[in-house]
Amino acid sequence: MHETVKVLVKTLAISMALAAAMPALGQNATRNDRDIENNLLMAMAWKQTAAEFRALYHQGFNIARMRVEIALAQKQDDSLPLAVISDVDETLLLANDYWGYLITQGQDFFDDASWDRWIEENRAVASPGALEVLNFCMSNSVEIFYVTNRDQGEATVQLAIENLNAVGFPLVDTAHLRVLRESSNKELVQQQIREDYEVVALLGDNLNDFARRYYSTDVDQRMSLMEQDKERYGRDYILFPNPTDGHWIRAIFGESEPAATDENRAILRRAATRAAWAP
Ligand SMILES: [Mg+2]
Repeated sequence: MHETVKVLVKTLAISMALAAAMPALGQNATRNDRDIENNLLMAMAWKQTAAEFRALYHQGFNIARMRVEIALAQKQDDSLPLAVISDVDETLLLANDYWGYLITQGQDFFDDASWDRWIEENRAVASPGALEVLNFCMSNSVEIFYVTNRDQGEATVQLAIENLNAVGFPLVDTAHLRVLRESSNKELVQQQIREDYEVVALLGDNLNDFARRYYSTDVDQRMSLMEQDKERYGRDYILFPNPTDGHWIRAIFGESEPAATDENRAILRRAATRAAWAP
């Protein structure tokens, strides 16, 4: 082989080996490399384009409506009034353009500071089917409680009210909105509501929206706790899809909002290859 060709072949071989090794070169990856391999890409492409993503919201809200209709039909004159308890973000409100923004900024993990700025701009949109089912509840005297663990400091309640009002949800006031800034444990407020209402269903995108016992950093334990409750899903627990945030992320990283570090990118990779064919 001609000497120049040999050099070219060798250079090509080295380039190919480097390209193959790139995922493992987290520490050396440049900003541009990370833009190309942004961890949010597949999840956000799904959220932004898949009819399947939106259909899952309709599916969830159709089940919610069915549960409300059954409860209305079975209600006795002396029974407690009916209520539905719902989480807010990624259950009733979608933040696709926030996550899209992160990707355009070359960010591949949730960023608290920009999230707070985004909330102030009131850009959230109603999830598919949410408005219809909440209006159905209201017109049938079924109360709606909005329970969130958002935290934008003192402004949290006002900002959440503005966001919920902007998309036209009913019964948005301080009596129906419960903000848990200090803890993500929603059970106490659920119990308080149950003292005065028969709760027909809990709506959420995070198992923690239903019960605190799911608040585990062990992936397998979280999975088995969910399996123990399998009869409750689609009945009193109505779950919506969220591949970008939630306590499933806490179970992987040990924290719900992991920092954008190469160490965490390696942890994510290990989670994604938990089972991997190795022929
Ligand atoms: Mg949520």
